[in-house]
Amino acid sequence: MRYIDEFRDRDTVRALAAEIKKISTRPVKLMEVCGGHTMSIQKFGLPALLPDTVELISGPGCPVCVTSRSYIDKAVAFSQQKDVIITTYGDLIRVPGSESTLEKEHAAGADVRVVYSVLDALKIAREQPAKKVVFLGIGFETTAPGTAVAILQAAREKLTNFFVYSAHKVMPPAMAALIDEGVQINGYIGPGHVSTITGKGIYEDIPKKFGLGVVISGFEPTDLMQSVLMLIRQIETGKPQVEIQYKRAVRPEGNRKAKQMMNEVFEPGDDWWRGLGVLKDSGLKIRPKYAAFDAEKNIRADGMVPLREPKGCICGDILKGIKKPKDCRLFATVCTPRDPVGSCMVSGEGACQAYYLYNR
Ligand code: SF4
Repeated sequence: MRYIDEFRDRDTVRALAAEIKKISTRPVKLMEVCGGHTMSIQKFGLPALLPDTVELISGPGCPVCVTSRSYIDKAVAFSQQKDVIITTYGDLIRVPGSESTLEKEHAAGADVRVVYSVLDALKIAREQPAKKVVFLGIGFETTAPGTAVAILQAAREKLTNFFVYSAHKVMPPAMAALIDEGVQINGYIGPGHVSTITGKGIYEDIPKKFGLGVVISGFEPTDLMQSVLMLIRQIETGKPQVEIQYKRAVRPEGNRKAKQMMNEVFEPGDDWWRGLGVLKDSGLKIRPKYAAFDAEKNIRADGMVPLREPKGCICGDILKGIKKPKDCRLFATVCTPRDPVGSCMVSGEGACQAYYLYNR
């Protein structure tokens, strides 16, 4: 426990806050592009420790939140097919589609199972050869290598009943799109888990093209406060760059083996992000070589309904950092974690749930 305590040490956090206050001379908005960071920032009340000049805004880093409603609709349609088992991480089953959720389909008799790892889905496929097992592959560079490993393993075992419905995404196009759209951002608190896989190279364009710094951060209060300090130093000295604060987990080159497997199975393709629309090459599509494992190419999706976003939900603007959860008139009244209207309240990494739990 001592290890964690050190990263939550009050005196260290206060000292970092004092240093930030000392050197910060101009108003800045720093965006954390990771839902895990949003949760920690709200849980530990970090905004209250920062000077008025520094505002933290949350971005499009919650994988469940940015996943499109049409993706859920298609997953629902898959679940209604005979002999299909849907396997998914927990949060996704409660995300509303246009007319249903996977949770409702499960209650109505569909075989929808929550798994803790894609390898659990693979196990179900081995054990149930008469069924088609579909794994809902969502998430960024953090989870995509695991999905790739499962597909490679299924290929080795010549499984014919394991499929992935991929909505995996990569982070840099979204970070660039926000700046292109004119969202006011003065620096990025870079995602820690994504960067353990990718390393720092994927962010190098941000200082070069846009003149903004990126500091890859850990998840504890001292990590985040130190990352803020590093960004403020960059801004105040006019030297934007990519730095790693989370050195105990992130190597500059990332995890080469994981990247290699990801590139073997996936290729870049255009993808849709809630709030940002279609971004070029922001998605990871299953390569034709592994098409036999691609759910979209092998499973029917009858009964798809037209796409409709929930009325009044402003998740899109929240994911772009231009509105905060409390700006939504449904927040904490009509929309709660128990009865969520939008994906930002469903997900354990969603900004609306973070504010609901820690900053109402
Ligand atoms: S509070 Fe609910 S309805 Fe409002 S933006 Fe968040 S998820 Fe959407």
